[in-house]
Amino acid sequence: MSAERVVIVGGGLAGLRTAEELRGKGYTGAITMLGAESRPPYDRPPLTKKLMRGELDDTSLAADFSALGVTARLGEPAKELTGDAVRTGHEEYPFDNVVVATGAEPVRLPGSGSQRVLRTLDEALELRAALRPGTRLAVIGAGWIGAELATAAVARGCRVTVVEAAQAPLAGALGVTAGRTTIGWYQAAGVDLRLSQPVSSVEAGGLALPGGGWLAADEIVTAVGVRPRTGWLAGSGLALDNGVVTDAGLRASLPGVFAAGDCASFASRRYGRRLRVEHWDNALHGPSVVAANILGGTEEYDPVPYFWSEQFGRMVQYAGHHAGGDRLLWRGDPAAEKWSACWLGPAAGGDGDRLVALLTVSLPRDLVQGRRVIGSGRPVDPDRLADPEIPVRDAVAG
Ligand SMILES: Cc1cc2nc3c(=O)[nH]c(=O)nc-3n(C[C@H](O)[C@H](O)[C@H](O)COP(=O)(O)OP(=O)(O)OC[C@H]3O[C@@H](n4cnc5c(N)ncnc54)[C@H](O)[C@@H]3O)c2cc1C
Repeated sequence: MSAERVVIVGGGLAGLRTAEELRGKGYTGAITMLGAESRPPYDRPPLTKKLMRGELDDTSLAADFSALGVTARLGEPAKELTGDAVRTGHEEYPFDNVVVATGAEPVRLPGSGSQRVLRTLDEALELRAALRPGTRLAVIGAGWIGAELATAAVARGCRVTVVEAAQAPLAGALGVTAGRTTIGWYQAAGVDLRLSQPVSSVEAGGLALPGGGWLAADEIVTAVGVRPRTGWLAGSGLALDNGVVTDAGLRASLPGVFAAGDCASFASRRYGRRLRVEHWDNALHGPSVVAANILGGTEEYDPVPYFWSEQFGRMVQYAGHHAGGDRLLWRGDPAAEKWSACWLGPAAGGDGDRLVALLTVSLPRDLVQGRRVIGSGRPVDPDRLADPEIPVRDAVAG
């Protein structure tokens, strides 16, 4: 079965990949892409890295809409979804299938001061222009974006303070124990990292802190996380719960509606729970499943999530998904330049351990092997896994 009209809402990586996958799998019907931004699709990961350091200005994904046979309506955000059409302020776009790929938007803090966020290419270019030698930059949030931005800003000669409410950087993603290993990176780079420091509000010229404290800054960037961009779907009847709720085939709760990328909350068979993944790799691969299922397939999306970050001269990579109850195991000395950390959960049947997640610092080989071991679900020998001289793949038990 081949539907006649597919409307893709969102002109980011997931939106573009959906169009490419549909054509790659032989779909010959109409494809319309609605994009809130007037720019054609571009990559976001370099915005805090090479672009912020001044090594490139354009991160375009070089989409060839005419070769793909895509009618692109850029700068035309979707405002409403009905049972069979998407409405913008201009037009109504009827569909047989619609793919929601509207990504995520940064959370802002209260206050009347000027606060920047970092999601779009334009925001990144404007911020870069403001980061001059001696600029006092306050970054709120020591997560992935905050760490990368601090790295680039120091290289641009700024005086950087990172203010974090939790006890450690990356505490939300990795937990406090693993996150603490990165504190020394900030110190060595000359970044003033203030932990356990909530911010009350952003005001003109600085941050208001609880108890009357004040942190003066020339530029303020709020990097405390994102939320799925699903406000336009209110009233559509679509099930929304921390994103567009989908089944394992990325099908949303209304007929003909799919979701992919940062905005999709999909049922993961592997982890036995719903996952919403805010990583590039997820926006790259989910659309293949969406396209297959639009074309009548029965594919399931069940990745081992993968993410990378470049901070303070290190390549930090993470694969899998771990929860509070999983056991942390060091592989190498976290005070060294290169090391990994593993999280172990109970193996299937409760007999022994299995690798559920892995963090690597400048050890891409551990990451590649670890991701495969996680994917296999096979039990591992913790003693062998903890020995950095033994390849991760050779820690599989039996
Ligand atoms: C600065 C930065 C650095 C990053 N670095 C990394 C990294 O190192 N590694 C990694 O794995 N991931 C990284 N990410 C995350 C990664 O970029 C995202 O996971 C990825 O962009 C998600 O793609 P997406 O297409 O789902 O969403 P998006 O890229 O957000 O694209 C969604 C698009 O939909 C548009 N849209 C929104 N609402 C509407 C509407 N109503 N109608 C029409 N269009 C709409 C938006 O304007 C946007 O263009 C980074 C993200 C940022 C912001």
